[in-house]
Amino acid sequence: MEGKLPIRRKVLDKGWVQLEDLMGGDAAVIRGARICYQSVARSPEDDIRLIRRLMASEPKHNTVFEHAVFRFGVKCPLFVARQWMRHRIASYNERSLRYCIADREYYVPAGDPPEVEAYRQHMEASFDLYERLLQAGWRRERARGVLGMAVYTEFIWTVNAWSLMNWLYKRLDKHAQWEHRQYAKAVLEIYRQVMPVTAAAFEEFILKR
Ligand SMILES: Cc1cc2nc3c(=O)[nH]c(=O)nc-3n(C[C@H](O)[C@H](O)[C@H](O)COP(=O)(O)OP(=O)(O)OC[C@H]3O[C@@H](n4cnc5c(N)ncnc54)[C@H](O)[C@@H]3O)c2cc1C
Repeated sequence: MEGKLPIRRKVLDKGWVQLEDLMGGDAAVIRGARICYQSVARSPEDDIRLIRRLMASEPKHNTVFEHAVFRFGVKCPLFVARQWMRHRIASYNERSLRYCIADREYYVPAGDPPEVEAYRQHMEASFDLYERLLQAGWRRERARGVLGMAVYTEFIWTVNAWSLMNWLYKRLDKHAQWEHRQYAKAVLEIYRQVMPVTAAAFEEFILKR
């Protein structure tokens, strides 16, 4: 694997995604596959061929890809997090606005003036009200109700390579929301860096198919 952890990519105006931990990589896929056949590689090219064959095969021998596991940290708007967490085959923990006070930080789409200014004013006003409610003694868990979906949140996402590829496949698609796609593009870059053989086979046989 190239590069030290964490590997961070900036996304949108204030967000990011970072790989914090990785178990296995391409070698874990090979281990999962070779135990089935009790086979050994005669050369590194044998392992590359095997991963390509597994990715191209139908029906897929998919469980071999589950032995590589990632832990990512993510900072994204609430509306992206909500879509992301629909992907159930993963583990999540998110910063709680029951326990933490929301930072005055929200996503602002680039372009579209003067509407963007009205959007910004609306978000600022919602934070003003949020802070007023807290000062008046409202619980954080209630006061947060006035904040908009553009507020940034942070979560950690632990996911295996098979489920990661399912997420990439769906969230790189042109039908996925543009903002979510920017996160998928950043994760794909990291995936290429840390699991080059599996990522290349995924792009060749699944994404470009
Ligand atoms: C462009 C786009 C638009 C979308 N629009 C909407 C929308 O309008 N409304 C909405 O509600 N959702 C919407 N979604 C979310 C979508 O329906 C899925 O919930 C989300 O993409 C997660 O996909 P998944 O189930 O494959 O992933 P995961 O939940 O990670 O599941 C991975 C795989 O495990 C299997 N699996 C998991 N749970 C079950 C289960 N209970 N039963 C059987 N098999 C299971 C399936 O094979 C599944 O593909 C949208 C997604 C995309 C990409």
